[in-house]
Amino acid sequence: MKILVTVKRVIDYNVQVRVKADGSGVETENVKMSMNPPDENAVEEALRIKEAGKADEIVVVSIGEEKSKETIRTALAMGADRGIYVNTESNIEPLAVAKILQKITEKEDPKIVLMGKQAIDDDCNQTGQMLSALLDWSQGTFISKIEFENDKVLITREIDEGLEMLKLNLPTIVTCDLRLNEPRYASLPNIMKAKKKPIEEINSNDLGIDTTPRVKQLKVDEPPARQKGIMVKDVNELVQKLKHEAKVI
Ligand code: AMP
Repeated sequence: MKILVTVKRVIDYNVQVRVKADGSGVETENVKMSMNPPDENAVEEALRIKEAGKADEIVVVSIGEEKSKETIRTALAMGADRGIYVNTESNIEPLAVAKILQKITEKEDPKIVLMGKQAIDDDCNQTGQMLSALLDWSQGTFISKIEFENDKVLITREIDEGLEMLKLNLPTIVTCDLRLNEPRYASLPNIMKAKKKPIEEINSNDLGIDTTPRVKQLKVDEPPARQKGIMVKDVNELVQKLKHEAKVI
């Protein structure tokens, strides 16, 4: 069984994001970039499935600017087998990403596509669902557990009411939650080995997909600065302030 895993290069989650002075976006120059956190969970889960003898190949795909190849290398160093890098001139929207992934999935013919539930840069939470619709495959989103049962997978998703268990037909699209597992660190020998693993390069123009943005971003603003907190001397004063000043109780 082949597993396809999608990994996106995003601003590292520890970085304090700064808005560009002209409000046209956020600063990415000289900013630490990393693999989107839920994508790390997707890579980790694929490795565990392979280690349990239920998969024989893990292919990692990333779409974006040239440096996205570094993100593929990170996944290869964690243990994935090979990579596919699709070159695009700028960051593209989920629908275009899903259309590119559709082409790659049709060519690679995996049984499962493991993705992150959401990219922490655009917070769209759309790509997996769109890919499922384009391929007409089953989908399980925000999964925190996955088990195999013959030609089906049992997934657990965390929803407002509690845990929802679904049985999905293969092939399927599964998007991973951070609670799914604890991603491993790549060891030095594996980082060295990853340098020799193949990465196929595809130009998005050769796929015949229109990647022009359909959403026009008007302006990006900093969130309002938080007001300074105050110290109260006791619960009584706190209650008075909440009642009469904040007027929330
Ligand atoms: P989003 O719909 O943008 O929140 O992204 C959801 C998931 O789709 C991410 O966690 C990734 O696994 C995948 N994805 C989105 N954009 C890309 C990209 N440019 N390259 C590879 N995977 C992507």
